[in-house]
Amino acid sequence: MTTHNVIFLGTGASCGVPSFYCGCKACQEALEIPSAQRSCSALLIVGQQHTLIDAGPEIRTQLNRARISRVDQILLTHEHFDHIGGIPQFEYYVRLGTQKPLAVYGSPVTLEAVRQQFGFMLEALDLRVLKPWQTLALDTITYTALPAEHSPDALGFLLELQASGADKGASSRRLAYFPDTGPLRAEVLERLRGVDILVIDATFNGNNWMPNSHHSIGEAIALAQNLGAKQSYLTHLSMHYDQPITQGELSAWLASLPWAVAAAQDGLVLRF
Ligand SMILES: [Zn+2]
Ligand SMILES: [Zn+2]
Ligand SMILES: [Zn+2]
Repeated sequence: MTTHNVIFLGTGASCGVPSFYCGCKACQEALEIPSAQRSCSALLIVGQQHTLIDAGPEIRTQLNRARISRVDQILLTHEHFDHIGGIPQFEYYVRLGTQKPLAVYGSPVTLEAVRQQFGFMLEALDLRVLKPWQTLALDTITYTALPAEHSPDALGFLLELQASGADKGASSRRLAYFPDTGPLRAEVLERLRGVDILVIDATFNGNNWMPNSHHSIGEAIALAQNLGAKQSYLTHLSMHYDQPITQGELSAWLASLPWAVAAAQDGLVLRF
């Protein structure tokens, strides 16, 4: 079966860790230990093609850090700055590099935000509408856009590896990526049941200040249990709100649980 590398370019909430204005223990730890730093959430799937999910304001640094020099298409989950703010970084990649408009997929609301905010570079982009439940076949992976409960028209993605040839009959592998979402609707839960890898919003630690549009770490773990996910990774972690927790504390606690749940970290690579 073809394998891909799934690279976590960023695993933080929009405020990042460390936040320049914050002296909490999570931020202090991240100042001292670079591996505890978290940039805006983004995922890169590397196979024959390079598919980027979200492009926040740190995307240039994130791609350089991962030694990635090519992006073939971008899938956007939603319109918030921490997910689209880095799109202008691709202007000169297209103008001086590929000289071919870069395909950017997103829901109608998300693409309208791109049009409004980045009007100066629209000729460098090939905007393609992706509606909930629509599928997209890219590089032996089927991407299904699923409704997320976050901002208007927000999406999550289900990645299913297409079995072929000798692999036919092998169980297909599935990865769900929902960096920003509150409680998912029933039909989405049904679609995700038994997923191999769940990557899920765990913005808050302790109390969830935005229970309709994000998860707390505890809620994310409960969702992973409910779905029967084989392995889960927490992402979009603020680490400061509402109770600061260090990477060391979080990892030790997750490891003590009887379930396969880990905190994703910037730079983590999974085989898929
Ligand atoms: Zn902090
Ligand atoms: Zn958001
Ligand atoms: Zn976000």
